[in-house]
Amino acid sequence: MSFVRTELAPLPARKRIALVAHDHEKDSLLAWARVHRDALAKHELFGTGTTGGMIASELGLPVHRFLSGPIGGDQQIGAALAEQRIDVLIFFWDPLAAQPHDPDVKALLRLAVLWNVPCAMNPATADFLFSSAQIDQDYTRASGRRPGR
Ligand code: PGA
Repeated sequence: MSFVRTELAPLPARKRIALVAHDHEKDSLLAWARVHRDALAKHELFGTGTTGGMIASELGLPVHRFLSGPIGGDQQIGAALAEQRIDVLIFFWDPLAAQPHDPDVKALLRLAVLWNVPCAMNPATADFLFSSAQIDQDYTRASGRRPGR
């Protein structure tokens, strides 16, 4: 198998952050976002349709909204990761319920790993991510590919 190699652009100091939460995790994401509102306000926010709308009204911040996750929003965010239009993914997916769009969820997580995108899938990891100085600095990513690939 061979791949066309694309250089990973440095992540900018002002990050493009995608926020996604499954229905049972939305309260958890909103609670986390309230705590980190001032930090989030320094960045450009994106979200799947419902999550993005809730974050925008809860925080009073602009959020670019993709389609709702189950009708294509997860795929849109995955494509944006691959096109290096999103720098950080905060995705609180539901570990206790199957989703109708499970294949899209898996694809999104796969692309986040492949493109070496910083991603948090629960509040503790999101706290760690936002306590890093690198959230507000330029950051050069390693290619993330294994030797020989
Ligand atoms: P939603 O999508 O924000 O539109 O609810 C989330 C998801 O299920 O991926």
